[in-house]
Amino acid sequence: MAPRYHPTPLSGGDRKALAKELGRARAMTTILAAQSAVARSKGEALIREADKLLAESWNERMWSNGGPIDPSPTIDQAINGGYGWLEIECSRCKAKREVDMAALRHPPTTAVHDLAGRLRCSKCAKAGRRPAATLLQLTPRAHQAAPET
Ligand SMILES: [Zn+2]
Repeated sequence: MAPRYHPTPLSGGDRKALAKELGRARAMTTILAAQSAVARSKGEALIREADKLLAESWNERMWSNGGPIDPSPTIDQAINGGYGWLEIECSRCKAKREVDMAALRHPPTTAVHDLAGRLRCSKCAKAGRRPAATLLQLTPRAHQAAPET
């Protein structure tokens, strides 16, 4: 892109002032963009911290009271906060499983508690049952390799 045209002032002093102003404005372009990048990065770090705290708050509620599961973080909030895995237990056979939420086909805006009715125990499914999952906790990573998926 060609630089914007600024009419040359007649007086030498005005020309000097214009050159100074243009230099200042061009320098500010870089400075303000850098400040914007820093502010955005701080903002993203704060959101990450908020998402982490939300996941931890939900975990404490699950651990202490076992519920209510609603409200809960969304899948993308949990992942952004560093809690990308969900530990669940089959409400029927009590088999535990850890689910990698990043690998789910549900939209990332799905609330974690909405997964309770959607995640099925494969053992019970083979027996023709479809019990809901009991949600236990969000974890940063799988504690053990998932026995089946
Ligand atoms: Zn089961």
